[in-house]
Amino acid sequence: MRLTFLGAAGTVTGSKFLVEAPGARVLVDCGVYQGVKKLRLRNWEPLPFEPSSLDAVVLTHAHIDHSGYLPALVRDGFRGSVHCTPPTRELLEILLPDSGKLHEEDAAYANRKHFSKHEPALPLYREEDARNVFPQLHAVGFGERVRIAGLSLRFVPAGHILGAASAELEAAGGRLLFSGDLGRWNDPLMHPPAAPAPADWIVLESTYGDRRHPDQDPVAAVAEVLRRTVLRGGILLLPSFAVGRAQSLLYCLHESFRRELAPRVPVYVNSPMATSATRLYQRFSSYHRLSEGECEAVFEVASFVRSVEESKRLNERREPLVIVSASGMATGGRVLHHLRALLPDPRNTVLLPGFQAPGTRGADLAAGAESIKIHGGRVPVRAEVAQLNLLSAHADQRDLLRWLGSCGAGARRVFVVHGEPAASDALRVRVRDDLGLAVTVPDHLEAVELA
Ligand code: ZN
Repeated sequence: MRLTFLGAAGTVTGSKFLVEAPGARVLVDCGVYQGVKKLRLRNWEPLPFEPSSLDAVVLTHAHIDHSGYLPALVRDGFRGSVHCTPPTRELLEILLPDSGKLHEEDAAYANRKHFSKHEPALPLYREEDARNVFPQLHAVGFGERVRIAGLSLRFVPAGHILGAASAELEAAGGRLLFSGDLGRWNDPLMHPPAAPAPADWIVLESTYGDRRHPDQDPVAAVAEVLRRTVLRGGILLLPSFAVGRAQSLLYCLHESFRRELAPRVPVYVNSPMATSATRLYQRFSSYHRLSEGECEAVFEVASFVRSVEESKRLNERREPLVIVSASGMATGGRVLHHLRALLPDPRNTVLLPGFQAPGTRGADLAAGAESIKIHGGRVPVRAEVAQLNLLSAHADQRDLLRWLGSCGAGARRVFVVHGEPAASDALRVRVRDDLGLAVTVPDHLEAVELA
């Protein structure tokens, strides 16, 4: 077998791993690069193989940095199956068209402002390309075995977000395991990652390979911020990712009220995508910790805003309430309208529920900016801005080592990917010293023979 690292090597986005075995060529994950321009430009580089030559794609989960290149792959000639779990398939049908629409909007914006070197600027792919992926999506349940050319595939639960999996690929020469993105052992919503079968080679994520998450209770932390905001007569705004984070926040709010840690106030989810994703969490309740009944109770905590009119009317409200809205780093979406309305009032709070990438409005707010730019105008920041780093959907260093301990004892080599260089290297050292395994951090485009 041969393994080539086409993405998420030395960085956290762009996950793409090419596996070649006699008679089989499979791409594991098919993500786009996100973040700084130098990385995003890689999305435009041709892949070192013909898309039509692939037998199949295997997707660990629906996040765009693992799936967002699929529409381009299909447009450019890939005709095989995309194997993923049933919830991942449903999430992709929400996330991919939205991603295509955003690429089209970016290109249109560049053309209006004439800041692209290319005239006209083209989208990486279109919404229509994203919809063309659907017929090729093939749902594979956890534990099921699927033959792909000369390989055998099996998905194992990875926690993280709804439907997320680790992927085991078995060939005549041995077993290759991809961790995918791993969740946490004490996630309020998702089960901890399951132990896969022992593998010969393991590709391990390292997003938080150098960190340990705080042990604080996220419910108490959210409740505390909500309580003081309500006491001031203010509104609490939670910019949030639509998948995973939004549902965790609803759980925290529900628990805050149930345990009487904060006064009960109306909660609104104002993000069409978060609304659709929440429905999937309800439909696939066997894929997470909440039962069908608990799901109903938790998600009933919120009213789901539908029309743009309803969304606008929310900004006229003056009494204490909570708004959960996307995007999570305030780079776009309906949350921008709420920020513009709520930031100038010192009674309100904007709670950033996670990591904010450099260059985003979220990062500016977290850094204490006195004003931020929205829709061409400057908005003064007088509201309280707080940050909460307790709702990460990613395993920390302890969790990663624990997972590797469950399946890595006989591994011939571990490849550490999906991390910034410092995080990957810190994990590499712990894997070598604590578990005594052969381990490397592969370079971008590096290929290794597994034998
Ligand atoms: Zn992910």
